[in-house]
Amino acid sequence: RRGTAGAAIPMALAFEGVTQRFGEVEALSEVTLAVEPGEIVALLGQSGCGKTTLLRLAAGVERPDAGRVLLEGRDVSSPGSFVEPEQRGVGLVFQDYALFPHLSVRENVRFGLRGYGEASADATALRAIARVGLADLADSYPHMLSGGEQQRVALARAVAPRPGVLLMDEPFSNLDRRLRDVVRDETAALLQETGATSIIVTHDPEDAMRIADRIVLMRAGRIVQVGTGEELYRRPASLFAARFFCDFTEVEGRVSGKAVDTPLGRFPVKGLTEGSDAIVCIRPHAVRLVPNGYCLPGRVVTRRFLGEVDHILVAVDGFDRPLSVRASLAGSIREGEDVGVDIPSDEVLVFPAGDT
Ligand code: ATP
Repeated sequence: RRGTAGAAIPMALAFEGVTQRFGEVEALSEVTLAVEPGEIVALLGQSGCGKTTLLRLAAGVERPDAGRVLLEGRDVSSPGSFVEPEQRGVGLVFQDYALFPHLSVRENVRFGLRGYGEASADATALRAIARVGLADLADSYPHMLSGGEQQRVALARAVAPRPGVLLMDEPFSNLDRRLRDVVRDETAALLQETGATSIIVTHDPEDAMRIADRIVLMRAGRIVQVGTGEELYRRPASLFAARFFCDFTEVEGRVSGKAVDTPLGRFPVKGLTEGSDAIVCIRPHAVRLVPNGYCLPGRVVTRRFLGEVDHILVAVDGFDRPLSVRASLAGSIREGEDVGVDIPSDEVLVFPAGDT
């Protein structure tokens, strides 16, 4: 599907009912997931939800307590058929890059090419180093490199042997924001080019949306939703998933008829029990501020310039918290000014209360 001449042959990777315990902690509970050959999947979730453990099982540095890991349909994790990490054809990029400090960039990348002939290893390493834009630094040592450069070396080392599967654990977490943007886009391009089946672990939804074909959202050792970034953003299956992708204003209400009554108005809803409690999530981008006198009456509490948009907090009569709004305000709405607040009802998400 992807890749160019000389690229990896992507492998299918699957987890079947995988459970992993560490003492009392069940780090993974019956996780089932199939990753297509060449697909880029992001494991997304909060700290401790089991992302790294799933990655370590794929790499073979951990053995599951129950369930199986399959590579190209072959069980590589069970006692009778276990395949050692170095025999799996899997490349790894760690959060701290794990570069050898006493080896140069070239030697670090060559390390992944044991088994290649001398000349061929050198040529392959230099190609990978050039590909990540570090040709001039091939003879430098890790301590002489910036964080972004070290990350690129780690990536070059992982892709040089053309692994069928590439596993990355929080590869951007040590980079500052600006660098992160650049390295993230470069990594996405490199993954497309190498064609390897890829799993990237992250707690950042933006990382996941920018790089992955599919996002696997995890919580407390389980997969809670799988889909494209757009699917998870637009149609989160739970309040938990919704919160991961957007900083909503949440408003409590009660279902009555085919709508939820809240202090910010009535919003249509489907499939919730009459009389039950619900939470309405309002995206800051969806709220429109209109001239005073229309829609809900409100007052601007703060307005902060953020560049492309303004962030505005609006006090609305009868609602005990400020409503968060993100909009580019052409006009000069000032703090303290009265405004009308329009919340398009087809842009809100409604969940049962307690569905956290
Ligand atoms: P983070 O983003 O912080 O790396 P994570 O989602 O990758 O988190 P894991 O590292 O997979 O989460 O850990 C899942 C759970 O298993 C956690 O509760 C963790 O403390 C526990 N755990 C992981 N590895 C071990 C271990 N070797 N021994 C004991 N407990 C462990």
